[in-house]
Amino acid sequence: MTLLDKNLNPVELVASDTAHHLHPFTDHKSLHAEGGTRIITHARGAWLWDASGRKILDGMAGLWCVNIGYGRSELAEAAYRQMLDLPYYNTFFKTATVPSIALADKVASLMPDHINRVFFVNDGSEANDTIVRLVRHYFQLKGQPEKSVFISRRNAYHGSTMASASLGGMAAMHGQGGLPLPGFVHVDQPYWFGEGGDLDPEAFGLKAARAVEDEILRLGPENVAAFIGEPVQGAGGVIIPPDSYWPEINRICRKYGVLLIADEVICGFGRTGKWFGFETYGIEPDIVPMAKGLSSGYLPIGAVAISDEICDFVIENGGEFFHGYTYSGHPAACAVALENIRILEDEKLVEHVADIAPYFHEKLMTLADHPLVGEVRSVGLLGACELVRDKATRARFDPVGRVGLACRDHCFENGLIMRSCGDTMVLSPPFPITRDEVDEMVDLARAAFDSTLEDVKAELA
Ligand code: PMP
Repeated sequence: MTLLDKNLNPVELVASDTAHHLHPFTDHKSLHAEGGTRIITHARGAWLWDASGRKILDGMAGLWCVNIGYGRSELAEAAYRQMLDLPYYNTFFKTATVPSIALADKVASLMPDHINRVFFVNDGSEANDTIVRLVRHYFQLKGQPEKSVFISRRNAYHGSTMASASLGGMAAMHGQGGLPLPGFVHVDQPYWFGEGGDLDPEAFGLKAARAVEDEILRLGPENVAAFIGEPVQGAGGVIIPPDSYWPEINRICRKYGVLLIADEVICGFGRTGKWFGFETYGIEPDIVPMAKGLSSGYLPIGAVAISDEICDFVIENGGEFFHGYTYSGHPAACAVALENIRILEDEKLVEHVADIAPYFHEKLMTLADHPLVGEVRSVGLLGACELVRDKATRARFDPVGRVGLACRDHCFENGLIMRSCGDTMVLSPPFPITRDEVDEMVDLARAAFDSTLEDVKAELA
């Protein structure tokens, strides 16, 4: 017997959660002081319901992942059928399963011509850990073991494991657990609103890219294995790089023989209005980690797509690669991912993102006149509003993050999920969102910004 059999009321559920459940990225002391978690019970389309029956518009598609929206029975049926046929078999010992073969083929077909092979993992963190091991292994095999350093950006997010959090550039994460590990360095991010100063965005984009070149030269190109970047930084606050940034990164990586990794965990599978962020920004990646949108979050699965140049060399010269996960290529997760991609294709959902993106942008821009909003930006169905103390100077509130959290709570009270990244309020709604739902989302956001402004004024009064 478990609690599931007991039909607990919401108060009892929260009490049990508080007693036994540790949550990711959570300050439990303040969570408990504020009365514990909100319990989500079911969802349809872009809408969630909580245990008290309240309906909430999910402006974040879960955690940037439920791209096709909630309640697609086809994915449940794909998992059900696969579990009846073969719930599990590994892909280690000269075996494969039909869904894992089919998904590798499908993902390869979505990649650029020079990328034809895929390694399966369970999530984005494992994808990036896999890359660290593979890339170092590759250069070791090539007789360049010192070519091992990874360059990333401050405020990047690449996962929570030891290696992926080292790749990431989140200062708060590095403050815990002895990170980053040796061999990971971070340069400035292409965050014009936050760090562009007096430069125009294009000049700033070039400056941010050249920080990568400076770092390569400082370390010596013979010591630098790869540069990793999210096409648009997600968890950092939907940081959309100036157009000048990625072409310059392409040039620099090629010039110094540094591999280029486009972390598509958020941008992949349509979020920016094309299938991958590398298409939106003209990035020429050697390696592509992906997760979230691969299955729209219906089951956990991730993948790493790797260039022929790297794969062919490692296969020819490497012997066994001592790496893999019990659930690499899990058949039910692969079947769900295949069904998810089928829906994206058949229902032209990526085209829908491109179609609705200008409307999403236009509506979001109506928030730019709000007294708290310093900048509004969006690409595809990724959007951000910067909350600031002073619109003219872009000055932040002190400490950063407090106003954002208050705003996030107001959103929730008003029936909208919006995430705060510091004081940047971000949106990443499910793809099938309609124009009416966009209108509603922006109205709810404005109401939450108004309530947040009241808080700020009350504090200053
Ligand atoms: N890379 C990026 C760009 C991400 O946004 C995330 C998760 N938000 C990850 C990697 C890590 O993925 P996961 O949480 O699935 O391990």
